[in-house]
Amino acid sequence: MTSVLAVSDCLFCKIRDGEVPAEKLCDDGRLFVISDINPAAPTHVLIIPHQHIETIADLDQASANLVGEAYLTAARIAREQGFAGDGYRVVANCNRDGGQTVFHVHFHLLAGRGMGWPPG
Ligand code: AMP
Ligand code: ZN
Repeated sequence: MTSVLAVSDCLFCKIRDGEVPAEKLCDDGRLFVISDINPAAPTHVLIIPHQHIETIADLDQASANLVGEAYLTAARIAREQGFAGDGYRVVANCNRDGGQTVFHVHFHLLAGRGMGWPPG
């Protein structure tokens, strides 16, 4: 399901609209970035499209560019914060088995420690 309108019970729509406080580290009008409230690595930010799309399984041809833009945003943050060379991980969880808890598409950017594989 996609919408540019606020979805009333969606946390990330509320953060986007300033109804729930969170510091936006950047916002280009298409994607905004916040720090994860429960960080799983020394750097853990969330790259979030403005558009309310519930899961990555709901992306379509019109919204698919957001995925590439999110990776470009991650690469820029990695360069700016100096961990591009050491490396990082970008993760999108989908639905129950993927571990998704907030049903508005977002990309986790994790860095600052070695990441295990496979993920838990
Ligand atoms: P996921 O489990 O993949 O849906 O990711 C949701 C993420 O949102 C989790 O890592 C949470 O820690 C994070 N989160 C939940 N509430 C907030 C909040 N108010 N501000 C920032 N991050 C949050
Ligand atoms: Zn939303």
